[in-house]
Amino acid sequence: MSISRRALLRAAAVGTGAAVAGGPASALGTILDAAAPGANPRFSRADLRCYVVVLDGLRRGEISSGLMPRLQELVGQGTSYRAAQAVYIPETLPNHVAMMTGVRGARNGVPANLALVRGEAEVRTLERASDIVAPTLFEVLGEHEVRTAAVLSKKYLHSVFGDRPDSTWDPAPQIPESDHAPDVFTVDALLAEIDAHDPRFAFVNLGDIDRMGHVDVTGAGPRPVARTVVLADTDRQLGRVVDHLRDTGRWGRSVLILLADHSMDWSVPHQVVSVRAAFDADPLLRGRYAVAENGGAGLLYWIGDPAARARAVARMAALAAALDGVDRVVPSGRLELGERGGDLVLLVEAGWRFSDPGVDHNKIPGTHGHAVTLPIPFVVTGGSGLVRRGVELGDAVRPLDVAPTVAWLFGVPVAARRYQGRARVEAFTAQPV
Ligand SMILES: [Zn+2]
Repeated sequence: MSISRRALLRAAAVGTGAAVAGGPASALGTILDAAAPGANPRFSRADLRCYVVVLDGLRRGEISSGLMPRLQELVGQGTSYRAAQAVYIPETLPNHVAMMTGVRGARNGVPANLALVRGEAEVRTLERASDIVAPTLFEVLGEHEVRTAAVLSKKYLHSVFGDRPDSTWDPAPQIPESDHAPDVFTVDALLAEIDAHDPRFAFVNLGDIDRMGHVDVTGAGPRPVARTVVLADTDRQLGRVVDHLRDTGRWGRSVLILLADHSMDWSVPHQVVSVRAAFDADPLLRGRYAVAENGGAGLLYWIGDPAARARAVARMAALAAALDGVDRVVPSGRLELGERGGDLVLLVEAGWRFSDPGVDHNKIPGTHGHAVTLPIPFVVTGGSGLVRRGVELGDAVRPLDVAPTVAWLFGVPVAARRYQGRARVEAFTAQPV
């Protein structure tokens, strides 16, 4: 890595300020930021292919488990971030929507998988295309004549992005109950899309790791059998993507951003949190609250007289915080979830799960949504000479950084878009022109 002396001096001054302010940027990140790569005519934007592949529910430590040699090789060939974290709520929909909009739930309309939407009587999955209220990368790249595609294994991901991409795949065949297509079919669909339309940008979700994780009763034990099988298989499928890009002459022009949308935690059946009994026993709350179960998190809503809101929310917070297995109860506004995020978010402790309407409702052992499931892998790699190789950084990157990073690569003026993430320019040697 070569950094000019002037950039180093400038970074040293900035770095001191960041340390005093407690800013999240690491010193190295700040230096690299100061040394942002310049435009390089050797790299053509028209030639560039960028693929964002979400390994749904992958834990960072699993990359080096020995079960994922292809992924591990890709990590070695790129820039990886050891302090990457999902955004709240660490569930599938909010983190995929954060990746494609570059803004948090309060601005993009999808702060959780399940939520109460104003004007609607029921808590429901935020899976409608109209639920996203911010521009996505698909529209932004479309304005710049970049052909886009979405190949997403889960039904609700397919539906929430709707027809925004130029090409989209209705995931099939579906595994009953899990509402997702196996990775082998998802990768078949991606390769077919590449052959048919050669999209310059594709957004991909591989759902097997997450879906297997949810039902894996051995997950928390020393030998998580199903996990072992699925990690190895998803790695093979990722390898097929790389091989296809090589075989079709695209590898040298390809940038891959590989990340997860959340991690995974496992609970045992008696470690379940439900607020129903405590809330129903309270005369102020009974019949005047709603709950949206989001794995290890519960969104709590006051739906009674608005004049009583402050008192009721304080009561809910006190009752919820007193329950066994509750890590913390946070005002939703503090997590930038917006109105759909409710009044309060209950987060369970590691090894527990949240369940609603009662303790018997959420039966699955694997779960996410709480703090322990925030850390994620985040890697910029690929065959393109644009990729900075063999670097590991401590920057606190987020799924929010995906949209500005991809936009920057394709020459979209990023500053004007008011992203809450930032372009990870330090992962690149140059900006294409
Ligand atoms: Zn997920």
